[in-house]
Amino acid sequence: MRHALVLATGNAHKLKEIRAILSSLPVDVLAPTDVLTRPPTVVEDGATFADNAAKKAVALARATMMLTVGDDSGLEVDALDGAPGVRSARYAHSRATDGENNAALLAALAPFADEPGELRARFRCVLALVDPLASLEPHLVSGVCEGMILTSPRGAAGFGYDPIFLVDGHDKTMAELTDDEKNAVSHRGRAAAALRDTLERALAAREASARGIG
Ligand code: IMP
Repeated sequence: MRHALVLATGNAHKLKEIRAILSSLPVDVLAPTDVLTRPPTVVEDGATFADNAAKKAVALARATMMLTVGDDSGLEVDALDGAPGVRSARYAHSRATDGENNAALLAALAPFADEPGELRARFRCVLALVDPLASLEPHLVSGVCEGMILTSPRGAAGFGYDPIFLVDGHDKTMAELTDDEKNAVSHRGRAAAALRDTLERALAAREASARGIG
């Protein structure tokens, strides 16, 4: 039996990645616009990734009463005291493209170009699972991927800051990895791995209730 799961995001790249990462589970990962004509607008004003992931998941789960996952993620650069952080999508300005955000980040890092240690960074992802049949309380997990910021972009895959993020343990940027390689080491892949047991239990409960034994 397959189950629907809504990913609370308007980001097509995140949707594609989560679909691939969860492909071994009996879930069809849907976009908010697959289930609602007008998905709720969520203001991402939380102080942490966890706050924003929970906010997105709860709003969509309330509106759909479906199994829902919220993803809030971004890049933390040590030299910038963790910025862009929760503002990763809007680092250059409120409607910035990936290219504008990358350029703004490299400009902010220009003073540190001779100090490679200062270019240490990590991607962080928090996933919030809400199963409204059980409760609207989100179950939160997180994943990180460590690396360094490169001063010139490399690679064409992925999205966001991938072309300027050199992945620890690979001589490649995130944008030079294949989709499978990225999902195996990424913050999102690691957060999803941490969610797996809870998600499997939620699916088993749905299956039992559909068969009338819940
Ligand atoms: P959110 O939609 O508020 O979670 O913002 C996510 C932002 O963080 C994206 O727009 C990217 O700038 C950045 N980001 C998150 N995950 C990734 C990734 O896997 N690769 C590159 N950039 C990412």
